Amino acid sequence: MTQRKVRVRFAPSPTGPLHIGGVRTALYNYLFARQHSGDMILRIEDTDSQRFVPGAEKYIIDSLSWLGIRFDEGVSFGGEYGPYRQSERKDIYKKYVDQLLNDGLAYIAFDTPEELERTRGEIANFQYDASTRLQMRNSLVLPAEEVERLIHEGHTYVVRIKIEPNEDIHVLDLIRGDVVINSSVLDDKVLYKSVDGLPTYHLANIVDDHLMEVSHVIRGEEWLPSAPLHVLLYRYLGWMETMPRFAHLPLLLKPEGNGKLSKRDGDRLGFPVFPLEWQDPKTGDISSGYRESGYLPEAVVNFLALLGWNPGNDQEIFSIEDMISAFSLSHCSKSGAKFDYEKGKWFNHQYIQLKDNRTLAELFIPILQKHGVESDLAYVEKIVGLMKERVNFVEELWDQAAFFFVAPESYDEKTVKKRWKPESASQLAELVEVLKGCEPFDVEHTEETVKAWIESKEYPLGNIMNATRLALVGAPKGPHIFNITEALGKEETISRLQKAIDILQ
Ligand code: GLU
Repeated sequence: MTQRKVRVRFAPSPTGPLHIGGVRTALYNYLFARQHSGDMILRIEDTDSQRFVPGAEKYIIDSLSWLGIRFDEGVSFGGEYGPYRQSERKDIYKKYVDQLLNDGLAYIAFDTPEELERTRGEIANFQYDASTRLQMRNSLVLPAEEVERLIHEGHTYVVRIKIEPNEDIHVLDLIRGDVVINSSVLDDKVLYKSVDGLPTYHLANIVDDHLMEVSHVIRGEEWLPSAPLHVLLYRYLGWMETMPRFAHLPLLLKPEGNGKLSKRDGDRLGFPVFPLEWQDPKTGDISSGYRESGYLPEAVVNFLALLGWNPGNDQEIFSIEDMISAFSLSHCSKSGAKFDYEKGKWFNHQYIQLKDNRTLAELFIPILQKHGVESDLAYVEKIVGLMKERVNFVEELWDQAAFFFVAPESYDEKTVKKRWKPESASQLAELVEVLKGCEPFDVEHTEETVKAWIESKEYPLGNIMNATRLALVGAPKGPHIFNITEALGKEETISRLQKAIDILQ
């Protein structure tokens, strides 16, 4: 058999913001497609108009674009297998519904929601299947003329798949191996609803995977229970030869490991579960996003890549190219992956260190502006270089480094008590004179000059350094003192020392 071209799809339903688990599914599809020089398709599965949420489709596209997960085909990308929005493919599905009906592999059912409700009340654990379908109102029971008449009179109906009981159905999963499910546990799922002329998810999904020549279906574990039905549909439609290979990814679990990760866990523990901020169009409620929380897209991608897949060694930092070559479905785990959001912060920290200072400065400048600070790029670059090691987020640079941009207005009281000695004012006044004559004012030379002066006076080094730091920073923090003086420059350093002398003496 000739090898098929790898074609994968990410097929979200636009029912709300894309969950971080969905992002991981998209990422794994992307890695797999790139690795095999295949195609990556974006298909929007919007056949359930009840659950349609305006803005969700755009949100999905924007999110994946922010993360650098690229598509070759699909909604907003074009391609030869379109349209890629299922609501625009109505006519395509009808033909296959008719085929299944003609082949006796599906049937028409007229049971109203009320009738179904009543039956559920009468029969314990009711399931619409081989054991019950002959007691229901459908084309298996009703005479053909009656079926014709009901349709003609405009009664709404659904088409259900006819599943034969007691057959072991095999789903060959690239992560889980041979998953066997007995057909008796399946119900005769609805494939089509006359009310809107639309197929349900199951039929549309299979028809489209077939017509779009999808070679691999890589999706979340929550779809595994549907897979036997999908296998049956492939068989019923005569498409077994080209049935895609399945891979069901492990669940993302709560940080504590008990149960599925939900938005509530994020709210409870203070981390986003969505890539971008999302405003609910109905309630106006805002959910936080990774982007707005200050994560770099590369960090999010790297973090997600390792939630369910491992490279087989202890490498953790992967460029996207490394990920593409290292990824493999056989190294995906079957058991759920704990969502360790602290690890997410760690990745952000790592990626901040990897970024050049220029790029970080460009990200930091808007934050400075938000605090009313205008500063030139070269200076911001220098400060970022000094301080980035200390932060997990660019935003945190402000907490760490504000004093480089704004002179202290006040001095930390506790530190004043402990570190400002009776002789500090006169010593710093002397230091001001020493600094005036210090040229060049760079780290090495200033340090050398100041230390020589301290030694000659036999002053305690610690006392002078602590008082100087207090004067320049306002608090007992910051990098090496002479990095601070160099960055601030002679004039500003002296002015801050002078100000502290005036206020604290
Ligand atoms: N529309 C489904 C979803 O929202 C697609 C599942 C699949 O990939 O088959 O995830």
